[in-house]
Amino acid sequence: MNKVVLRKITYGLYIISSGRDGKFNGQIGNTMFQVTTDPATIAISINKENYTHELIKLSRKFSVSILAKTAPMTLIGLFGFKSGRDVNKLQNIKIKTGVTNVPIVLDYSIGYLEAELMSELDCGSHTIFVGRVVDADVTGNDEPMTYDYYHNVKGGKASKNAPTYVKDEPDVKQEQTATAARYVCSVCGYVYDPVNGDPDGGVAPGTRFEDIPESWVCPVCGAAKTQFEKE
Ligand code: FE
Repeated sequence: MNKVVLRKITYGLYIISSGRDGKFNGQIGNTMFQVTTDPATIAISINKENYTHELIKLSRKFSVSILAKTAPMTLIGLFGFKSGRDVNKLQNIKIKTGVTNVPIVLDYSIGYLEAELMSELDCGSHTIFVGRVVDADVTGNDEPMTYDYYHNVKGGKASKNAPTYVKDEPDVKQEQTATAARYVCSVCGYVYDPVNGDPDGGVAPGTRFEDIPESWVCPVCGAAKTQFEKE
């Protein structure tokens, strides 16, 4: 079987939230799709180890915020590479409470869907949750973030708990790499490539890792420069 074909599947990027009784969390998800129109139903695939999985099981409700292309890597890093068991991800984020009382992330979101759980399917490492949409709205006019854009333009990586995670994900830019070394974030797997630099973080393309100021942090998860290792 040629698993490379799996990477030809297209996705968006979402923040999926859930919870009840003072326990709330959100996480990045790329596997979300509409199942039916009337009534409107959606499906998501969530890793069983994730805190959000536990909260969906508990509350039987979830929300999906559709991320805009403008969403910064720090937001994706917070929701994609940190656990809600360790940090309160929603603390400094603009949210609203939905009609089912689940949190809905509004930061860098262009729309949201709120759903009540109808059905679930055990798929081994992940559960597919199917929900009936009980509320939805458009909250922005930016273009939606696609998973491809996240990977290829923003240099993002898949979390090990993502349904689409591939171990030792080869980088498509590898062939273009000049002689300067690339460095990998030991926390989230982000790769600093001197060819691209980190313009959002004030590092111009062509800057060697060694020449980046010590105050620079990982654009995905916020880890210090010292937490990077040579690739
Ligand atoms: Fe990182």
